Amino acid sequence: MAQRSYTKTTYLKSVVDLADLPEDSGGEVAFIGRSNAGKSSAINSIAGIKGLCRTSKTPGRTQMINLFCINDQDRLVDLPGYGYARVPRHVMQRWSETIEGYLESRHCLRGLVLVMDIRHPLKDSDQNMLAWCVSCGIPVHILLTKSDKLKYSQAKQMMQKVKHQLREYGDVLSVQLFSSLSKEGIEEAKGKLEQWYSNNME
Ligand code: GDP
Repeated sequence: MAQRSYTKTTYLKSVVDLADLPEDSGGEVAFIGRSNAGKSSAINSIAGIKGLCRTSKTPGRTQMINLFCINDQDRLVDLPGYGYARVPRHVMQRWSETIEGYLESRHCLRGLVLVMDIRHPLKDSDQNMLAWCVSCGIPVHILLTKSDKLKYSQAKQMMQKVKHQLREYGDVLSVQLFSSLSKEGIEEAKGKLEQWYSNNME
């Protein structure tokens, strides 16, 4: 089957309350990660559209669930980043409740893309998110972003290390190198999305 075209992806809406999400049908793939990990850049690179997803320097949308339509059925979902240093505890608490609510209740969710800076992978917050998603039965695909910041051999080594550390999770979890700058891994990431979205059709 031909791959979905991502270049026609459009911004749909941003919501704070789960009640404002679009109808729970079709397929969604959600992106999450610590702030500054390169999540927005990854979404833009995968869609092939600069500025589709605002980067973390843009206030506002980063605190909401942002939805993008790939076509009539499939959506990309940009979840709020975690680990902002200067956000009050009660705000963080509300975000995590929203994120957990979304991940727990959204039937059309096909999988979660967890974005981690290759130089600082598997922080506690990442590990908690990972363990929680797997326990909820949500497949997770990890992008080790900014791979251009390391030599290829070092990047490969880091990926092996991460895979080894997460081996207990088995097949529900996959890991790849990714760089919005060098374009490494964009096709591989699209392949994963394709797999998840097509499962939806079966
Ligand atoms: P977000 O907070 O996770 O959405 O992260 P952003 O996408 O806004 O990126 C955070 C910073 O990392 C920005 O300064 C980006 O230019 C930079 N960045 C993102 N992806 C890459 C990458 O693949 N390579 C390099 N070298 N820098 C990147």
